[in-house]
Amino acid sequence: MKVYISTDLEGISGVLTFQQTGRDENGQEYEKARHLLTRDVNAAVDGAISGGAEEVVVIDGHGGGFNFIIEELDPRASYIMGPGRVNICPGLDESFDAVLLVGFHAMAGTKGGILDHTQSSTTWLNYYVNGIKMGEIGQQSLIAGHFNIPVIFVSGDKATCEEAKQLLGNIETVAVKEGFTRNCAKILSPKKTKELIKEGVARAIKRIKDFKPYIIKPPLEIKIELQNTDVADRYERMEWKRIDGRTVLKVVDSALKIL
Ligand SMILES: [Zn+2]
Repeated sequence: MKVYISTDLEGISGVLTFQQTGRDENGQEYEKARHLLTRDVNAAVDGAISGGAEEVVVIDGHGGGFNFIIEELDPRASYIMGPGRVNICPGLDESFDAVLLVGFHAMAGTKGGILDHTQSSTTWLNYYVNGIKMGEIGQQSLIAGHFNIPVIFVSGDKATCEEAKQLLGNIETVAVKEGFTRNCAKILSPKKTKELIKEGVARAIKRIKDFKPYIIKPPLEIKIELQNTDVADRYERMEWKRIDGRTVLKVVDSALKIL
């Protein structure tokens, strides 16, 4: 069995602020967050292998794709890192059996979602595919679905886990924190979440036959409500169709083109 683990930083154990995700001017909190990320990633790799996966590929998906502490990574997996990705899941193809999402966050506009956003935390208000409002879990699931692969596991905060179950049904989830507001949460120790992630991923791998790929048949109508007319003007110049002052739309023929 071959699995693909997609990662983000906002839903990692102990990550609560945008300073931790790379906006910190002196970078100290971000540097610490990289270690937290690497711990959650290693726990997922450990769980995948103990659950029966023979090959594990992990993508460093946050920002420019260079967040893992390389020398601390579990040697049993391989890792896709670096900027200039061709799409959000480089290297993913039909040869994989499952996709797992580690450190994900709730879609833009989710109350109590830690660092909630959809792609851009400053310019996107809402994102829809064929009228279905979704966030990054939905986007990743559609891309996995393009290759006929199910998403079987999600870790993040409680709101993220609820969003995943709402979209994908009874998949395995691990909530590493529970948000009260966008930046304040009840968190668990990374020592505890390491165990929970390992066990949750192993359970998901063992239950792989229970899960179905998330597929919406093309054509796919992508609609984005943007923060303001300035941003919408920019999208219009990039050949999106302008629907109203701050809404743009395009129709694509493949889930690989939804972003
Ligand atoms: Zn991110």
